[in-house]
Amino acid sequence: MKAKYVEALKHFEQIAKVETSTWPDEQWHGDIENCDICSRPMADETFMVDGPASKGGFEWGNLCVVCAYKSSPSVGWGKAQLYRRSEEGIWKLVAGGPPAEDMMDEYG
Ligand SMILES: [Zn+2]
Repeated sequence: MKAKYVEALKHFEQIAKVETSTWPDEQWHGDIENCDICSRPMADETFMVDGPASKGGFEWGNLCVVCAYKSSPSVGWGKAQLYRRSEEGIWKLVAGGPPAEDMMDEYG
């Protein structure tokens, strides 16, 4: 693994580690084949970030850790969401999800 990749991976591992909220029922719906910026295959990745695909950009994408580290390093509601791939290949939301109050509104 390249040093840049390891650095990016550690960054998001740390975010997942310190996140205090959980969203057990939230997952990414749909297939993600490649990173929207660098086209890296996502099938073997641990993390995926749903966030701005460029600095201050309005377009969001499914990003690998390296690209996310560059264009959307901070994870949070309204900023970017961090997903981790489960053993079954499902991207589960692990950080930056909607605050509890919003969930209450959404689901009544
Ligand atoms: Zn990428």
